[in-house]
Amino acid sequence: MKALTYHGRHDIRYGEVPDPAVTSPADAVVRVTAAGICGSDLHIYGGNAFSPDLGYTPGHEGVGVVVDTGGQVTRFKPGDRVLVPASVGCARCGQCAAGFTARCERAASSTELCYGVSRKLPGSQAQLLAVPCADVNLVHLPEDISDDAAVVLTDNAPTAWYGCRRARIQPGETVLVIGLGPVGLMAAQSAFAMGAARVLGVDLVAERRAFAAGLGVEPVEGDDTRAAVRDMTAGRGPDAVVEAVGSDATIQLALKAVRQAGRVSVIGVSQNKAFPFHMYLAQVKELEFAIGLCSVHYELPPLIALTRAGRLRPEAVVSHRFALSEGPAAYELFASRSDGVRKILLDPAG
Ligand SMILES: [Zn+2]
Ligand SMILES: [Zn+2]
Repeated sequence: MKALTYHGRHDIRYGEVPDPAVTSPADAVVRVTAAGICGSDLHIYGGNAFSPDLGYTPGHEGVGVVVDTGGQVTRFKPGDRVLVPASVGCARCGQCAAGFTARCERAASSTELCYGVSRKLPGSQAQLLAVPCADVNLVHLPEDISDDAAVVLTDNAPTAWYGCRRARIQPGETVLVIGLGPVGLMAAQSAFAMGAARVLGVDLVAERRAFAAGLGVEPVEGDDTRAAVRDMTAGRGPDAVVEAVGSDATIQLALKAVRQAGRVSVIGVSQNKAFPFHMYLAQVKELEFAIGLCSVHYELPPLIALTRAGRLRPEAVVSHRFALSEGPAAYELFASRSDGVRKILLDPAG
């Protein structure tokens, strides 16, 4: 089959790789009809990979049709249209049984919990994807949810929802979302769905701020972001901040901007092992700080219902489409943050 493979910093290639096969009776193989490129794939592309492996297929956002199943798979059969959650559960531990796949007790390392970050679990930016323990790691896709929406539901939308849940957004509150890429845009939609009265949005890219404004977000303008946020909230600061970037500067902004006794929820991925966390500031502020990785399986049921009802519009964050063969150019565009790029979908048939 054709697939993208990762060979080091800024080196993504398109070419032939061996077809995946069902190697365990619990597994399935899915023909991918749409794959996303995620912001965390850009960490890999930039040379900050999550494993030292090279030559593997990246991608953890995939939607498709089941083409083969092992003898123990009971919930799926060839021809079923499915969404493949980015997080992978073992199907055996208590946490996975409850849907908390990110807390799997059997995974030896975090690279076993996600497709496309090492050679262990090849990714979705390919024509075919092998899915372990298919009965728990596939989700039936209703006909009225488009591939566009479904790709966003594999990771970005549940991550955003999880971040907003952990920010404990209450009806009528003012929420600040930092980073207006696909996750931040879905966090803004989620905050409104949870009853936020106002959502303020921070992003360096003016095009992204303008797009978010179209979704009802109040963009924070000007060079002094913290002062602007203070002005927009009558000097108090927002009740909750959802941080969807993961850089030191944006996490610091979240900690400083939130109101007294407010909540900060970090879903941006940080690889900093020595973040300068100001304990005393947090203590006098009576800060609530949450950080974590989303268990997609756990978050999905309400998101699928909200998407079908039109209360969440995951497809709105999709901006570009490329054939899989154009994958290297798609990565280049995404990394450049130009041309209004938000979410890129790859078409493995192209
Ligand atoms: Zn992702
Ligand atoms: Zn588990």
